[in-house]
Amino acid sequence: MNKIPFLRPNPAMLSKAIEELRRIESAGIFSNFGPVNSTLEHELERVIFGGTGECVTVCNATTGLMIAMKHHLRDRLGRRFALMPSFTFAATAHAALWAGLTPLLCDIDVETWTSSVVAERELLDRFRDEIAIVVPCTTFGNAIDLAYYEWLSEEYGIPMVVDAAAALGTLCEDGRAFGTGYRSPIVFSMHATKVFATAEAGVIYCADREVSGELRSMTNFGFHGSRSALMPGLNGKLNEIIALMALLKLPDFEAAVEHRAAIAELYRRELPELTFQRLVGRRQAFTFVSALLPQGVAAARTELLAQLARDGIDLRTYFSPHLAEHPYFREVSTWGILPNTEEVARRIISLPLSDFMTAADVESVAQSLRRAFKCLAP
Ligand SMILES: *Cc1c(COP(=O)(O)O)cnc(C)c1O
Repeated sequence: MNKIPFLRPNPAMLSKAIEELRRIESAGIFSNFGPVNSTLEHELERVIFGGTGECVTVCNATTGLMIAMKHHLRDRLGRRFALMPSFTFAATAHAALWAGLTPLLCDIDVETWTSSVVAERELLDRFRDEIAIVVPCTTFGNAIDLAYYEWLSEEYGIPMVVDAAAALGTLCEDGRAFGTGYRSPIVFSMHATKVFATAEAGVIYCADREVSGELRSMTNFGFHGSRSALMPGLNGKLNEIIALMALLKLPDFEAAVEHRAAIAELYRRELPELTFQRLVGRRQAFTFVSALLPQGVAAARTELLAQLARDGIDLRTYFSPHLAEHPYFREVSTWGILPNTEEVARRIISLPLSDFMTAADVESVAQSLRRAFKCLAP
């Protein structure tokens, strides 16, 4: 039987880049904004963001989020909340907590699974003077309306940081890469499990050069042109080896995103029993494919996953538990009512995806799921 893993990372192979590795060794520069990292930043700007704005690489997206959140706090002392959806990855809340903030968790839209505009406005009105930053998330790589968020940020006088960890490769309706031209920091991940696979890496995109310069200083202990700390900082720099992995990944990145979008489309066609995420924008970058189980099967989700595992198919349940269900975040966060989050988290499954996945694999997953549906909700 053909085993189908949940994910299969596909980073560039360093074993085939001996010449490039030798060049790093003879340059003798291994980190601290080295030449490979600088080339990578420029190439990301050019190839992905159409030559506008600036890319600041970081050692991972979580560190990027911490830095971007902390940057906004410098003139917002006394405000304690970071407004974010409860339906996101643990990293979003951890980053806020490391920046000294309390996550304020809001509900999601029942179709796009990104923050509900109504729930967000309700919390913004209720906690107006206590919210330091708004943190919209591009759930599973789905685009969000950044023009709306820029307006919201202006309207309430609250800055934003976007957790776009899974959205590198996502295209807006106008065909441009998600984030292009926006002045608020947008944080993307290049973790091994994401579409733009390296080992551990991230990038902060920002079209405001003053802000991106400060963010870069913050990745290097708050130094700027001297060895004196001028602002908060930590060590968030990307090293030359991983920068090389990222640079080598760039040429096949577009094809990987396209392949995954095509596989996601096949899943949709093969499994009309499932409710898929409503796509916003022209193209979503898929790390995996998420869908809601039919009402009658949702209660038996654990059994369903076990049954598929017996067929060699590995499913997950991102983001269930959602943040307000994690024991730690329950203790240290505040939240509004979360009916849509609870409904989506209760029914969600994450289907396998990788650059290597074929139409036949999708067919195997679909057959196995249909068999399980028959036996769990006869
Ligand atoms: C992957 C992910 C992160 C973390 O990215 P790292 O690069 O692994 O730190 C943060 N937020 C979301 C929504 C993610 O999917």
